[in-house]
Amino acid sequence: MNKNDLITLEITDITNEGFGFGKYNGMAVFVPFSAVGDKIEAKVLKVNKSYVYAKIEKMLLPSPDRIENDCPAFGKCGGCAFRHISYSAELKAKENFVKKAFAKIGGFEDESTIFLPIEPSDEIERYRNKLEMPVGMNENKELYCGFFAARSHRIIPVEDCLLQPEIFSEIARFIVLKARELKISAYNELRHEGVLRHIFLRKAVNRQDGGVCCVIVAKRNVPEFKRLARELSEKFPEITGVVLNINPEKTNVILGEKEILLCGKSEISDEMCGVPVEISPKSFYQVNTKAAEKIYRKAAELAKPNGKVILDLYCGAGTIGLSMSKGAKKIIGVEVIPEAVENAIANAKEFGASNAEFICADAGDIAALNISEKPDIILLDPPRKGCDTKTLDFCASLSPERIVMISCNPATAARDCKRLSELGFEVNAVQAFDLFPRTRHVECVVLLSKITNI
Ligand code: SAH
Repeated sequence: MNKNDLITLEITDITNEGFGFGKYNGMAVFVPFSAVGDKIEAKVLKVNKSYVYAKIEKMLLPSPDRIENDCPAFGKCGGCAFRHISYSAELKAKENFVKKAFAKIGGFEDESTIFLPIEPSDEIERYRNKLEMPVGMNENKELYCGFFAARSHRIIPVEDCLLQPEIFSEIARFIVLKARELKISAYNELRHEGVLRHIFLRKAVNRQDGGVCCVIVAKRNVPEFKRLARELSEKFPEITGVVLNINPEKTNVILGEKEILLCGKSEISDEMCGVPVEISPKSFYQVNTKAAEKIYRKAAELAKPNGKVILDLYCGAGTIGLSMSKGAKKIIGVEVIPEAVENAIANAKEFGASNAEFICADAGDIAALNISEKPDIILLDPPRKGCDTKTLDFCASLSPERIVMISCNPATAARDCKRLSELGFEVNAVQAFDLFPRTRHVECVVLLSKITNI
């Protein structure tokens, strides 16, 4: 096969990258924005040894899963992968991503492992509580904001992202307008010049009065930011704080070290599963609050925390552990970001959870920590890259009755479960949770239990 060849094929699957998959003369063909059941004429874009990338040239017979796309940025911005198929088709694909990862990477097949049906998100639009928009300069030399194109740092202008609450779009538009008026320059990544880098917004979901925090990320401080902050809080009564985050580094990481509070407070005050949560800009907070509450409830159901000592690794602001702290003997949270640990301590105090303690440390150094009591249950909720092997080995050596793993990356979850299964644990149940409707991302929860030789 050669570049620009036209081929006819049927899409039979969707990969975890969100691409449709079909076969042509034994060769795997990946086609973005196609749907299972599509019969298409595709144009070959890139040829590799055993697979090719192609794009839809002509639709011969559309899949019954197809729906009308309602976002003008779909296919350009790197956010959504599935605005062209029904939500039930998306859920089916995501359930399969998790099953396939566990089978292929972990060696866990259907017969010995229980794959529970995927848990949908009740909201599939405007469910996010966090917005991160890069800022750039357009061809008319005007500052604008949007989202990065897939696998690129080209900023696609987006007026109103359908995954974000409307207030975020209104605030972002206002910031752009005011930044233009105040002649604040946009940061240019290539030249490492300019000022305004990102707009970062966070919003409480369960508490009506929980506030909106507006973080302006800039390469350096300029006097105009004070005025911008004042005008923002005058225009939007929902905004409870404006923070200037200074990021002078040449980096893809959005937030820098230094924070200057321009007005109000930097935390938002929300509630998850009845636990009061204060969240600072640098603390991790699940972006789909309502769907994350379902995960926390499932984690509690699987962990059976009553009377148990629970080690909550990668605990963030302590939300999962605290949500199951009533009835538990003790909760010990471990988290690497100091601001998140401060939030966790304050959240425990507010909740009256005197049985909770939090340690600021790298989970990789867990063996060196002085854990006050041997845990009966371990909760693992690592970032996308998963757990270090030394963390897994140490967790296994503590010999807990159960491990509940929560992961936003089924591939690393399957890899880590495989290691735990070699260390005396068995995977009892795996369930996918859709926390990120319309995107290719999926979360999963896994129950592992210690194999006891009776
Ligand atoms: N359990 C929390 C956070 C999960 S996200 C919740 O449900 O909200 C993963 C968390 O792991 C983040 O808070 C991140 O800061 C933290 N983290 C990342 N690498 C870590 C490491 N090596 N050691 C400890 N914590 C880490």
